[in-house]
Amino acid sequence: MTENFELRDPEVVDLLQQMIRNACVNDGTEASGHEIANAELLRTGLEGSGCDLETYEPLPGRASLVARIEGSDPDAPALCYLGHTDVVPANPETWSRDPFCGDLVDGEVWGRGAVDMLNITASMAIAFQRLARSGFRPRGSLVLAAVADEEALGSHGAGWLTEHAASAVGADYVITETGGIPIETPGGRRLLIDVGEKGSCWCRLRVRGQAGHASTPLRTDNALVTAAQVVSRLAAFKPQATVHDAWRRFVGGMALPEEIGPLLLDPAAIDDLCESLPDVGLARQAHACTHMTIAPTIVHGGTKVNIIPDRVELDLDIRTLPGQTETYVRSLLAEAIGDLGDKVEIMSMHDDPASESPIGTPLWDELDAMVQHYHPGAESVPFFTAGATDARFFRRRGAVAYGFGMFSDRLNFEQFLAMFHGDDERVDVESLALSAEMFEALPRSFLT
Ligand SMILES: [Zn+2]
Repeated sequence: MTENFELRDPEVVDLLQQMIRNACVNDGTEASGHEIANAELLRTGLEGSGCDLETYEPLPGRASLVARIEGSDPDAPALCYLGHTDVVPANPETWSRDPFCGDLVDGEVWGRGAVDMLNITASMAIAFQRLARSGFRPRGSLVLAAVADEEALGSHGAGWLTEHAASAVGADYVITETGGIPIETPGGRRLLIDVGEKGSCWCRLRVRGQAGHASTPLRTDNALVTAAQVVSRLAAFKPQATVHDAWRRFVGGMALPEEIGPLLLDPAAIDDLCESLPDVGLARQAHACTHMTIAPTIVHGGTKVNIIPDRVELDLDIRTLPGQTETYVRSLLAEAIGDLGDKVEIMSMHDDPASESPIGTPLWDELDAMVQHYHPGAESVPFFTAGATDARFFRRRGAVAYGFGMFSDRLNFEQFLAMFHGDDERVDVESLALSAEMFEALPRSFLT
């Protein structure tokens, strides 16, 4: 593909293209991912640059790379750049191009991972490489953790590292995805810095019935029919709105129109607003950020077409707000399922509570200064995301972790959200150059 303009930072573009082409697709199974391909690619770029390099491979192929520029003062705060190297699967039939082509078209790099988050990982790696090669010797250590398995549970990546290699990746401050896309508001440009995220409390419901011959279904106890009723009840169930501090700060910072802003902070009004807002994307975000959500996603049941099923399993993706425990989740499920409860067993699959970092920290101020530098006049707004990132592992260990990258104004927020795990994922080369530049500049002021 020929380009009729000059690339500002061909090195980061090339690295991203190669990372996309490595297709480290994590489908949630242990045998997927093969992040070793991206770990080795990054290692090759960093070798000989004067930093310490270590590869960790808890399972064959599930490798993470940790690079480190040791600080001169062991008491000075350390900073970790945390980027994942895996991507979610992509369906080639619904994409306009091969999802793993890494093509550069009209100033954009195409492919799975272009915004989630190989773009940031590549920018961080190039910045780190430049710092190391320049002989940068900070007071506080700088760590680059390019990790596997973020797109599943992080058990073979950040989760494993923070448990088994805590001293290698440990840091006082962490920067990871997402954040940084410019948003135009009536009050001017805003850039979100992710400061917190919801928890995941995934549950499996085992619905019981009585097996029988399917040729005579009258008055049988069909687990699938019960499961259908359970799903309907869960879909109709409305957990209460909670306006927490992080949400209040976000709404306050966004200069939203008069007819929306106050309603987003009113627990009695927000449900109706979310149902009626013409902007579905905003409605979904607003709803998710202020409610525990329940999404039935997988059903397994039945054995043979002529047998009334006696057991059906429903998997629920449940996302929790700060302070909402598994006990709370179970009590809400019981309330939703109501009098079908004696046929339903609730089993835990995974529980990860919500996590949050304070604002107004030295790193916050540093990122805020970067916002001013790259988008003069824009304001930084703290955001609480509905999705999960590897930041949670580090917050749990006391680190201040934010999600941030620097972007041009070529992509808007809506496009950005739609491309996350969606079709035709791509990023503009200007954003890649800006992020690489910012990640190189930041430690020069923050760690010295
Ligand atoms: Zn991601």
